[in-house]
Amino acid sequence: MGILTTIRQRESLSFPARPAVPHSPLTIVGGGIIGLSIAFECAKRGLKVIVLEKTACGGQATGAAAGMLAPYSEIGEDPDDFFTLCHHSLKLYPDWQQEVRTVSGLAFEYTRSGSLYLAFHEADELALKSRLEWQKEWGVQAEIVRGQALRNLEPHLTQEAVAALYYPDEHHVYTPDFVQALLAACEKMGVHIVQHAGEVRFKEVTADGLLLETGEKGCFSTDQCVLASGAWTSFFEEPLQLRLPIFPIRGQICAYEQGQEEIKHIIFSSQGYVLSKGNGTIVCGASEDIAGFDTSTTEKGISRLVKWSRYLFPFLKDKEPFHCWAGLRPATQDGYPLLGRLRHQPNVILASGHYRNGILLSPVTAKVVADIIEGRQPAVNLKMFDPLRFQ
Ligand SMILES: Cc1cc2nc3c(=O)[nH]c(=O)nc-3n(C[C@H](O)[C@H](O)[C@H](O)COP(=O)(O)OP(=O)(O)OC[C@H]3O[C@@H](n4cnc5c(N)ncnc54)[C@H](O)[C@@H]3O)c2cc1C
Repeated sequence: MGILTTIRQRESLSFPARPAVPHSPLTIVGGGIIGLSIAFECAKRGLKVIVLEKTACGGQATGAAAGMLAPYSEIGEDPDDFFTLCHHSLKLYPDWQQEVRTVSGLAFEYTRSGSLYLAFHEADELALKSRLEWQKEWGVQAEIVRGQALRNLEPHLTQEAVAALYYPDEHHVYTPDFVQALLAACEKMGVHIVQHAGEVRFKEVTADGLLLETGEKGCFSTDQCVLASGAWTSFFEEPLQLRLPIFPIRGQICAYEQGQEEIKHIIFSSQGYVLSKGNGTIVCGASEDIAGFDTSTTEKGISRLVKWSRYLFPFLKDKEPFHCWAGLRPATQDGYPLLGRLRHQPNVILASGHYRNGILLSPVTAKVVADIIEGRQPAVNLKMFDPLRFQ
């Protein structure tokens, strides 16, 4: 027996053996649409990835979302790098969703419905015109429709709507099915997904890597970690010694069973949106409330949606929503996501705070984060989304 073996034997007698900790070069904390999309893209590029999810993948904001891919209706102000990010992501969607469909082998709804942003007064029309002007410069397909042309597009719409900005390129997905397909696609690409892991915390952070401790599944070590933990990302402020002003904004939303009347487009107004889903429901959303991490619905929140949806579509006046739910949008102090590597802690990358547009922004986020990990220049300017901008 060699002397080294003897020393090792003595060591193992005097110290309890440290349990083997699974190691991965890349660990993603959070299995919502953002974490899973990053995992999918990184796995496609040949990286070995683990996703650690506190509960069930897609069970938080992602599962609650209406699934609209609608940057032109959502962003009415002048264009900036956030508009570019959204515009770019919308363009990625047709190929992105097709890849998820092909790799997973699962079906999900992706409807190229187009959308209508409504005006109820002539004064509102002026705002639509100025929006149309700058968006056209960006190559956005859009036109103002009025009168019979509007009724032809959307026959059951209220007569109170005088005009609308029509965007044929805005689409929607059915998010609960899409996220399941994304999860299956990740697994087929070899991503190790640990659901119901309990809360992940940083146990040790060094220049070489991180030791992550989960509430339920032990520890994991990693070279780099992406925080895609949605509205909960501010819980990492202390270990990272960083200000992360991300907070939950509750969105309440409801669904009616669809009857004979169909809504053909995503209908936007200043007060909310209504759209038909392929599963025979009409979805109407959404409130924006400050309620901490409470995901219950309130009578006040839902009754406002019911009132407004009945105003937009009078055929809904005899119907009651059969399903109401709520989710927590990850909002940031300035409304823009946090995307990028931490300069003072370079093995941590932030991908959080997508607020109202996380479903739309998932492909572009996946690609820019994978570029950052590979040391490539991302296709979009990320300065505005610097995770250190609040220091
Ligand atoms: C009612 C409503 C409607 C919406 N409609 C749209 C829409 O039409 N279009 C659109 O683009 N966006 C929409 N959004 C916004 C969109 O849902 C979010 O921007 C998006 O889902 C954010 O994704 P995420 O992965 O960052 O967050 P989440 O889906 O919340 O995922 C974060 C995950 O991280 C996990 N997690 C958190 N902390 C930890 C931890 N410490 N350890 C382990 N796991 C952790 C959570 O359990 C969660 O599963 C809507 C949101 C709501 C609420």
